[in-house]
Amino acid sequence: MTELTETLELKLVEPNAHKHRKLCETKQAYQDALEAAFNANCTTQTEANNVVVNYDLSGYAKNALKKYVPQLRGGSYDAKELHDDHPVRFTNEGPKLDHKPQNAIEWYVKIPHHDDYHLWLPAQPNPEQREWLEALHAGDAKMGECRLFDRDGVWYFHIVATRDVEERASSASETPIGVDIGEASLVTVCHRNERGSPTEPNLWNDEGKRVRQLRETYFTATRRLQQRGSERIVESYGDSLWRQIDDILHTVTSEVVAYADQFENPVLVLEDLTHIRENMDYGAFMNRRLHGWGFAKMHAQLRYKAAEKGIRVETVNPAYTSKACHCCGEQGYRPDQATFTCSNSACWVSEYHADINAALNIAERHLSGESHSREHRSGDDSAEEGGRLTGPQDSHTDADTQQVTRGTPCVLKP
Ligand SMILES: [Zn+2]
Repeated sequence: MTELTETLELKLVEPNAHKHRKLCETKQAYQDALEAAFNANCTTQTEANNVVVNYDLSGYAKNALKKYVPQLRGGSYDAKELHDDHPVRFTNEGPKLDHKPQNAIEWYVKIPHHDDYHLWLPAQPNPEQREWLEALHAGDAKMGECRLFDRDGVWYFHIVATRDVEERASSASETPIGVDIGEASLVTVCHRNERGSPTEPNLWNDEGKRVRQLRETYFTATRRLQQRGSERIVESYGDSLWRQIDDILHTVTSEVVAYADQFENPVLVLEDLTHIRENMDYGAFMNRRLHGWGFAKMHAQLRYKAAEKGIRVETVNPAYTSKACHCCGEQGYRPDQATFTCSNSACWVSEYHADINAALNIAERHLSGESHSREHRSGDDSAEEGGRLTGPQDSHTDADTQQVTRGTPCVLKP
């Protein structure tokens, strides 16, 4: 087992005037407490505690300060450097991460303000770190110290996270396992045995059906409740439906990794998400967005769960993986969703299961050497147009008394 550590970067999305002010207050109180404890020459946590206890800060920030000040004092820190901006540090018990895939901005962080008061803020993660967020959200990665800071009027929140991964000795022969993520079967996996024959396909059909039902229930119910103006109900109902979907995705992704784990030197081969999005043929943008959400979430879960077992994940260009014949490579067609028909009369394949055919093509593409270990992603998947923006609620009702401003500079006490 190896422990990986990464600092997860989240940009807080345009806090409104009220939240911006609260963040500024936290920053100022923290800076004041830091300077006071430093100037009081605190070299132990107890000494630091006696100073920082008087400041209007959350216990999580005070606890972080108690550890930090003696470290500063022990180092070669110059007192005038104290006037530089310091990120507000929090111990890991305070901040929380939440995921609401039904919203335009999907991720939220809970930031402690002072005792009994915290702020929930929508946040844009670094898209490269999606698997870390999934792991953290599922409790499969551990949250460490967090830091809040602003740069050029934009607020950021950093989370130090750790998770365990296994290292596997790689052997000469590898087993590429094609993973096709779809609608009918949520996931289909298949690989070829040492003689090259397709073997042990596995399909998650029931789970695909269940996810479709939950998604439909969500759309129908949301529309009806919104017509009645029941926003609060929409939100809590939506949360519970998405939690159920997330549970299914977690179960399936764990099973896919367990399936791969039984073979020699397995490599999970996925389709590159960027291409999948471009190729998607869905009508309503919301539907498309949520479909995309399923892919992104499953990819991220597969990545971190595979890493836990020391299994590599590669992605390939998905062009024609569902239209080509896995046997002869000729283009075929799909008379229905579940069936692939090869148009080559010389090929022994006439009809084949469409999803298994696709999974085999995906695995084949890895063998032909065109795979890469990271997805080619330019933007991120969480900030698309549309969608409602209702997040978790702050702990005070006065959060509603503001109008939206952005980029207001921090007004700091002299
Ligand atoms: Zn064929």
